[in-house]
Amino acid sequence: MNFDFTDEQKSFAEQVRRFARQHLAADALRRAHDPGFPFDVAQLMAKQGLMGITLPPSDGGQGGTLMDAVLAIEQVAAVCPRSADVVQFGNFGPIRTFAEYATAAQKARWLADLLAGRMVMSLAMTEPDAGSAVTDLKTSARPDGAHYVIDGSKVFSTFSPDAQIFLVYVRYGPGLGGIGSVLVERGTPGFAIGTPSSFMSGEEWCELNFTDCRIPAENVLLGPGGFKKQMGGFNVERLGNTARSLALGRYAFHAARDYAATRQQFDRPLCEFQGLQWKFADMAIKLESAQLLLYRAATNADRGLPSAYDAAVAKAACNQAGFEVASEAVQIMGAMGFSQETLVEYCMRRTRGWMIAGGSIEILKNRIAEHVFDRRFDQRKRQSAATE
Ligand SMILES: Cc1cc2nc3c(=O)[nH]c(=O)nc-3n(C[C@H](O)[C@H](O)[C@H](O)COP(=O)(O)OP(=O)(O)OC[C@H]3O[C@@H](n4cnc5c(N)ncnc54)[C@H](O)[C@@H]3O)c2cc1C
Repeated sequence: MNFDFTDEQKSFAEQVRRFARQHLAADALRRAHDPGFPFDVAQLMAKQGLMGITLPPSDGGQGGTLMDAVLAIEQVAAVCPRSADVVQFGNFGPIRTFAEYATAAQKARWLADLLAGRMVMSLAMTEPDAGSAVTDLKTSARPDGAHYVIDGSKVFSTFSPDAQIFLVYVRYGPGLGGIGSVLVERGTPGFAIGTPSSFMSGEEWCELNFTDCRIPAENVLLGPGGFKKQMGGFNVERLGNTARSLALGRYAFHAARDYAATRQQFDRPLCEFQGLQWKFADMAIKLESAQLLLYRAATNADRGLPSAYDAAVAKAACNQAGFEVASEAVQIMGAMGFSQETLVEYCMRRTRGWMIAGGSIEILKNRIAEHVFDRRFDQRKRQSAATE
């Protein structure tokens, strides 16, 4: 077992750090409070080779590993937390599932624009009545000649106010085996995008409604039976949320450390009070231990998809660590931490969301418990004998 980075990883991380300091540092505070997708950052990152890090060069990617993409999130977030969302979009988000399963024609149509930062994709999975119970989704895809007709609605999709293309989970038929996914472009007749609502994090999402929305059959990404593959791709997305949770917790930790080292009260710097020193020690333990789980999940996956168990353990640990550390950082910095003069309160709000998004902590713990007991625990209400 080796806990050191390779020379290539060190050099890659250093390049990303330099890029972030040069191009992203100046506007970091403003960017965090702008809900729009930062296309300017995406285009800069595309030129720097930070989009499609794990995709093969034949697809326009960099041929790197998932660990490289995690390093990119860490380095970018350490300078500009909001810009880490662009690394997420370009490497971990629905683009990864898309690149894994799209046909050559689908890739030719959209991948170059996505990787160049000219276009953003949104994942439409959650429905008003299908959140954690995602397999309850009702949005239907019905074949009609050379088309599919989509009906249903989706909520909470990240980047939906700006996205040009949506990866939509649909139901072709009953049961788990009836679930798959399609690609729907903004502007398709029958596809209505509502006015944006805000999350506590400042991110915006729009309700998506599909009414007799006809899409060409070539827009099917995964047909019936595609659910397991989709969740495999979604475990990459989870790892991006995991990496951002930890990276934003670490950003807040460093800000609080610098503040405590210089801010004087009772004629002493805050860091000389043991009550605060022990907070920092606990924060360091949380960050360091969660980071090992993140690195394990990313390293085990290499260029492939992380295992569901590794991803669940890492995400639950990093979500908790990131939020708890960011929240402590706010407390340590007092009113300054609570103020929008710094990004510490932003890190707290953002890390809170990842405890819910992409598999809530409770759902991840259900998954971990299944691994512990090596059996499945059906979350659904048992049917009574009379109705069975
Ligand atoms: C910041 C953010 C970004 C998001 N981005 C996207 C996106 O891009 N695309 C998309 O499709 N969706 C997105 N979502 C939605 C997200 O996937 C759902 O919020 C999530 O799946 C939980 O569903 P829900 O909110 O309906 O909560 P519910 O499923 O109603 O759950 C409510 C509470 O009950 C708990 N709970 C539910 N079932 C169980 C159980 N069996 N055991 C124990 N506890 C349980 C949950 O953990 C939660 O605490 C996003 C959400 C957030 C907050």
